[in-house]
Amino acid sequence: MADQPSEKNVLKMRNFVDKYCEKSGTSKHPTPVVTEEVILGLARYSDELGRPLCPCRFYPDKNEEVKHRTWICACDDMQIYKYCHCLLFVNEEGQPITEYLPADHEGLKIHGVVKDPTPDKGRPLRHKAEEREIERKERPS
Ligand code: SF4
Repeated sequence: MADQPSEKNVLKMRNFVDKYCEKSGTSKHPTPVVTEEVILGLARYSDELGRPLCPCRFYPDKNEEVKHRTWICACDDMQIYKYCHCLLFVNEEGQPITEYLPADHEGLKIHGVVKDPTPDKGRPLRHKAEEREIERKERPS
């Protein structure tokens, strides 16, 4: 079994999740254990690395990864597309929002199109979606 994270960081992450749900217009998963496992993972990384790195990914070098903000919760995918692949921030049915994802994103392939119930909230980095699309089209295939 993985190490128990510090109570301080567990409480901090619980508080963060509640606030971020409200801010982004998303919900916690209807099965509480799903949320709890992700919170524990975020708290463990906060203990180990000083930052809440996404716990649902593999990193060749975690210390290198925390130097970028890409996978620090709330990650780029969440802030740009409102997509949380850990199912921490979802709709009321427990599905991740996928409607803004680029056509070739794995989230769309896995979940199909899931509409955003609160399009007026969240996605503070939405302008980057367009920038990324331009970069993608310019990339040699
Ligand atoms: S996918 Fe992003 S928003 Fe979801 S838990 Fe991981 S870092 Fe946080």
